[in-house]
Amino acid sequence: MNEYDSNRIKGLVRRINYISTKNIDEADCYVLNTCHIREKATDKVYHAIGRVKKEFKNKKKPITIIVGCVAQAEGEILLKKEKYIDAVIGPQSYHQINKIILDVENKNKNINSTEFNVIEKFDQLNLIKNTDNKISSFLTIQEGCDKFCKFCVVPYTRGPEHSRSSSEILSEAKQLVDNGAKEIILLGQNVNAYNFKNYKLSDLLFELNEIKNLKRIRYTTSHPKDVTHDLINAHEKCEKLMPLLHLPVQSGSSKILQNMNRDHTIDQYLEKIEKLKEKKPGIEFSSDFIIGYPGETEDDFNKTLLLINKVKFINTYSFIYSSRPGTPASNMSKVDTKTAKERLNIFQNVANNIKRNYRKNLINSIRKVLFENIIKKGDQYFGRDEYSNSVIVKSDRNLTGEIKDVKITQHNHNTLFGEVILDIKKEKEYAA
Ligand code: SAH
Ligand code: SF4
Repeated sequence: MNEYDSNRIKGLVRRINYISTKNIDEADCYVLNTCHIREKATDKVYHAIGRVKKEFKNKKKPITIIVGCVAQAEGEILLKKEKYIDAVIGPQSYHQINKIILDVENKNKNINSTEFNVIEKFDQLNLIKNTDNKISSFLTIQEGCDKFCKFCVVPYTRGPEHSRSSSEILSEAKQLVDNGAKEIILLGQNVNAYNFKNYKLSDLLFELNEIKNLKRIRYTTSHPKDVTHDLINAHEKCEKLMPLLHLPVQSGSSKILQNMNRDHTIDQYLEKIEKLKEKKPGIEFSSDFIIGYPGETEDDFNKTLLLINKVKFINTYSFIYSSRPGTPASNMSKVDTKTAKERLNIFQNVANNIKRNYRKNLINSIRKVLFENIIKKGDQYFGRDEYSNSVIVKSDRNLTGEIKDVKITQHNHNTLFGEVILDIKKEKEYAA
């Protein structure tokens, strides 16, 4: 979502004649977008400012603005501690950035804009075309969260749940497709809780499915509780909706889920996975895990291992529990760091083995790859298959924006390598 926000900020500041520079040291204004989900976020801000200071040692200092969730959570402290920062802007107020830049230009400093103005923000953003011209483009449909999982800062930094109107979303989707997007990734902290006057994510998916030049649709990130029948039905019926669902579960132990306030059990999670598999054969899953959550015993951790062995997630994102100030879990007694690190290590080994086996089995298979861009010396193209796996092929033809059948020949942990099927045929013809 920060990538989407940064992109919209670029669109906004163009109105006051600011454009992105190629090199940092050419900038008159430096905007740092930040994430507060795990600790060390604030340290990263100070480090980044340190680098900017160095870069501009013998030059005029750029207007320096911190946006995003660190600004929201710790803006006041940032302004106090680091005088180089001129303004802090929370994620729901960044539509005010032009006014703030002009204010700073007029020698005002220490501007703190951290109100939750989400409706006003989208009203402003709707006035500006989304000029993103990526083959795969993000589109925010929902922000904030009312679920209050005990470990999470999102409800405090992004604010309460807000769903954008369907007409705004459809109009932005059409802009993106007109700009050349072939894939749209719908975004929200709780994207499947999307609900605009009873118009739900499933309704939106069916409508997007009808946009002619749009080829692929994905959405992220979902909460298991909000995987409803209508959404499962959309997975069955919308052929453009890709067969990979990122469905964070956090832990394999129902007891820990309850302590996290996730409001579902592992059995309920597995039931949803089974339903999805039944309606959409071939669907795969990825997930997020928090290892060493307060109260996690050896037995709870083993249940997490059991779960990943059962579901065989094709991708997992795992982190040691990170205490966030102001969240209920920050007052609970912690698992000691050594144990948490050991468990993370074991978890990642098991998860990586599952991933490696999955990838090994892809060798010689044929994947439908949507090519996004050219890389390296102009003869290699990067794309993704339907399961979001990164694929690289060599080609002397421009493949950007095309969907091709690719035969996979090699893999490493992050990337699959292959050949475009047509090229293989061509080679055979040449040989004959
Ligand atoms: N809305 C999504 C998750 C959004 S946050 C959901 O409900 O699952 C993205 C991920 O960051 C989470 O899935 C979680 O795994 C991780 N995360 C959030 N807070 C964390 C914390 N305090 N410590 C470690 N990981 C955390
Ligand atoms: Fe955070 Fe997701 Fe829980 Fe909301 S549902 S509080 S975003 S982890």
